[in-house]
Amino acid sequence: MDNKIVVIGSSNTDMIVQTPHIPRPGETILGGTFNTAAGGKGANQAVACARAGGKVTFIARVGNDIFGEQALQGFQREGINVDFVTKDENAPSGVALIIVDEQGENSIAVASGANINLSASDVQGAAEVIQSAGLVLMQLEIPLETIAAASNLATENNVPVILNPAPAQSLSDALLQNITILTPNETEAEMLTGIGVQNEADAHKAAQALHDKGVTTVIITLGAAGAYVLGNEFQGLIPGFQVDPVDTTAAGDTFNGTLAVALVEGMPLDEAVAFANAAAALSVTMLGAQPSAPHRKTIEQFLKESKC
Ligand code: ADP
Repeated sequence: MDNKIVVIGSSNTDMIVQTPHIPRPGETILGGTFNTAAGGKGANQAVACARAGGKVTFIARVGNDIFGEQALQGFQREGINVDFVTKDENAPSGVALIIVDEQGENSIAVASGANINLSASDVQGAAEVIQSAGLVLMQLEIPLETIAAASNLATENNVPVILNPAPAQSLSDALLQNITILTPNETEAEMLTGIGVQNEADAHKAAQALHDKGVTTVIITLGAAGAYVLGNEFQGLIPGFQVDPVDTTAAGDTFNGTLAVALVEGMPLDEAVAFANAAAALSVTMLGAQPSAPHRKTIEQFLKESKC
């Protein structure tokens, strides 16, 4: 299997304000600090992949504006192939307004901009790279038709597809049947199955329901608790790592990007999930989405130390 990873998804500029608590409707809070960072679930996962040691091609749309240019330069600095990142002449770059409180909890509003224009024909234009990939990784910040087109193409060519179904929305059975690995968090798992996920037993039920719909492997991420895995080769909880959380914004993105690298390298499923848990735990100890994705060496060092 080829070890190239194709990430298809969104790119945003995150505008982050840290506040003592998340403001209620109508409330204004003074005194927060402000930062900007490159973000968007697709871009975050592409960067997490690249930092974890993956060979990544990113398929995306940004605006023909300063945010788009900065994003593009950022991807290039990470060694990501940007041949299929298009500058859209008709829409601005995506923006996310993020509030992070002192406990590391967040609240996010996204203006999708150019991300909405990423189309099935963009996927067709990159058919060659998708057909020859080791794995395709997607999320739900781009149109569902685009995701369907890419998962059809990948499946026809025996290329495994990881879909991180975030942000939460319901998905057709036809789409789920083309997904090799689905990685919802607790909220997304509930949205997809109607089963509330509060503990390992609930996670098993929700994962089984998704597996019954045709997803080969289901991995439900459970925050600090780690991830519940239901696949043909492994079933059970892979525990998370204990850290002091600063900002949980991109934990799921780091988890997915790192998981893709581990799997494309041929790591067994349980080991790959532990590797992704380690990277995601490291990412919650730092502020920001892309800035917090750890490099391969850091992940390996952390895993070594936590075994001692
Ligand atoms: P999302 O960020 O998509 O909401 P989760 O909150 O489930 O997803 O987090 C994804 C992964 O990040 C978890 O499976 C776990 O590996 C890691 N993680 C998240 N929060 C923490 C935490 N507080 N401590 C350690 N690891 C965490």
